[in-house]
Amino acid sequence: MTDPSMTDSARVDRELRELADKQIALGEMRGTPAADPVNVPMIRHWLTALGDANPAYLDQGVAPPAMIQVWTMQGLRQDAKDRSPVDDMLAALQAHGYTGVVATNCEQTYHRYVRLGERLTPSTRFTSLVGPKRTALGEGYFATWNVTWYDEADEPVAEMMFRILKFRPRTGTAKPPETGRREPYPLRPAVNADTAFFWEGVQQGELRIQRCADCGELRHPPGPICPACRSTNRTHTVASGHGTVYSYVVHHHPPVPGRETPFVVAVVELPEGVRIVGNIVDCPTDAVSIGMSLRVTYRALDDELVLPMWAPGES
Ligand code: ZN
Repeated sequence: MTDPSMTDSARVDRELRELADKQIALGEMRGTPAADPVNVPMIRHWLTALGDANPAYLDQGVAPPAMIQVWTMQGLRQDAKDRSPVDDMLAALQAHGYTGVVATNCEQTYHRYVRLGERLTPSTRFTSLVGPKRTALGEGYFATWNVTWYDEADEPVAEMMFRILKFRPRTGTAKPPETGRREPYPLRPAVNADTAFFWEGVQQGELRIQRCADCGELRHPPGPICPACRSTNRTHTVASGHGTVYSYVVHHHPPVPGRETPFVVAVVELPEGVRIVGNIVDCPTDAVSIGMSLRVTYRALDDELVLPMWAPGES
């Protein structure tokens, strides 16, 4: 059923809304029970990963409440019977070019502790699709759903509201248009009272590292209080601009607004003793390696924003 007076985007919007109404009408859909009961090895992995040394969980045989998603998380290979009302909605958004995704809200409510040996079952309800909205990342739709986890007696033990923005990534921001002015780069750093000195330094070609004005400890990222002596007096030092690759990832997917993939995001170790996150440029992605020597470089992403990045160089 097509109305010739409708534009393509209006047609897509109507199609998405109709699907959203259908998914909402499905109500709460019971998922597949957890593959494994709540167990010690998973809890131990979680506590180790988060650096949580609280012995109370394992001593009392309960899971950290924030682990709730862990127990029923699906693998990448999903059976058709495991599809929730959310999956079809996200697939439709994807098919219409809303390929970017960013989680915007997550609220979890815990009704009680989950105990070792319990096997939980998730239940999913799609609740709303809002859009299209223009955002800094691109045009997109906010999709919201709720998951409730039930125990074997069919009592809810926890709930979660989850909202994502599925967006059409903005592209081409790096190309200067006819006007000579570049499109503003969409992902801008948060500049506040704690970080302004850093960004002012970048504008002047200085890599500034915050220093405690009392005990002299360097810290990065910048913050209001010295983690060593709790002083709020701070100053900064200018780093040499040398560094080495401490760790890195090559980002292939998903698309990032204003960026061309693949690109490298690295944790760079500075000889001054702190680490900083930044992109590695002027280097093929497969030539990056741990321990590689780097030199800071400053790149303009638009007419105002300059970011420090890292290029191969001698330490
Ligand atoms: Zn200090």
